[in-house]
Amino acid sequence: MHLSEQDQALWLDTLLSNSTLPPSEGIRRLLALPGKPAALVVFASAGEETPLEWHVSADMPAGVQAWLRAPAQVETLRRTFRDGVLSVHPQPPCADHRGAVFPLEQGAPVQGVAAFPVEYQGYRLGLLVVCTLHGEAAPSCDFLTRWQLLAAQIALPAFVQSLTAEKEHLQTRLSEVARLKDEFIAITSHELRTPLGLVLGHATFLREMLRGDAYQEHIEVIIQSALRIKEIIETTTQADNYQSGTARLRSRLVNLNTLVETLCEARQESARQAQIALQVDLPPGPVSVEADAEKVRIILNNLLENALTFTNAGGHIGVRLSAGEGYAQIAVQDDGIGIPEKDLAHIFERFYQVESHMTRHHGGMGLGLSVARGLAELHGGRIEVESREGQGSTFRLYLPLPEG
Ligand code: ADP
Repeated sequence: MHLSEQDQALWLDTLLSNSTLPPSEGIRRLLALPGKPAALVVFASAGEETPLEWHVSADMPAGVQAWLRAPAQVETLRRTFRDGVLSVHPQPPCADHRGAVFPLEQGAPVQGVAAFPVEYQGYRLGLLVVCTLHGEAAPSCDFLTRWQLLAAQIALPAFVQSLTAEKEHLQTRLSEVARLKDEFIAITSHELRTPLGLVLGHATFLREMLRGDAYQEHIEVIIQSALRIKEIIETTTQADNYQSGTARLRSRLVNLNTLVETLCEARQESARQAQIALQVDLPPGPVSVEADAEKVRIILNNLLENALTFTNAGGHIGVRLSAGEGYAQIAVQDDGIGIPEKDLAHIFERFYQVESHMTRHHGGMGLGLSVARGLAELHGGRIEVESREGQGSTFRLYLPLPEG
């Protein structure tokens, strides 16, 4: 193959302007230049061996394209990619380009074919495949040299393109994993409910039957543990409902002063046992919102529970109610262990915990904040967090004040 001077200039021009082109466009132009049916076959750099992308030149007849994508040819391409050496048919006379054999069966729509590995800075990205059609000359050594050069030139846009493709590929897989996780939670929670109901029912029946018996204590442990499992299932499905927006609110006017005060009072004893000072700061006037009191209690309980869990003995927790700019605000502030900056954006995700579940000292499922945020949003409110590792955290719940 000989490029005319004009074509060479165009080729160079294309290469130089490649940096401003989207990579796939650069590839398309490069493939089109030499006027041969050619394809860039990109494989995932993560080691997967099925082609991730095909870029095919406009010169490639549909029949040749279908043939190239058939399993036998894909297998040859896969092998060529794995071995990283040229595979070619027929073998050229020059030693430089003698590679592995690209098998051509009888009746193949091409006369010759060559597949060059495309590598960029040590990364093998894919293959540049070029075909000669029936009636054309077999690939000469000059032809192969030119295409080898093109394989080198195409490497950079191919590299950028493969990164883009791989990112998309990973994103698709990630959302699939998230979907499977949701489905798994929904199914297991549902399936666990029936046997758990039976355990609880029978254990409660036995408790009644054996009242005062020596086995009473064991039955109590069974019942309490089953109730704990029930609670976990409830929280998990609650988080699911809030996320899918299927939860409903039963709103009425709620006095937050009373709600906050009662809630903190109920926690004073556990704070005292943990040697943490729990202080409540309420405004003189009442702050009321249209809300589902039970759900607001769940939100605050989760925030308080976390503050108590992640604050060491001798620490302080402050709960402060205020109102302004259309919102009631409840701030739960602690001087506990704090949250590393890299985790802050994730703590509201379901099952996210700063400490890994396997090594952590604290209990919990990583659901509390996700439930809390879901509930706050259901009320038209939000939760904000500010935290510094080693210094403490402040979670602020905002609930809209009634208009007028
Ligand atoms: P968990 O059941 O683990 O408490 P949450 O969703 O309530 O789940 O919280 C998620 C994670 O955020 C916790 O595991 C913890 O790592 C971090 N976290 C939440 N609140 C605090 C806090 N007040 N101080 C430090 N870390 C916190």
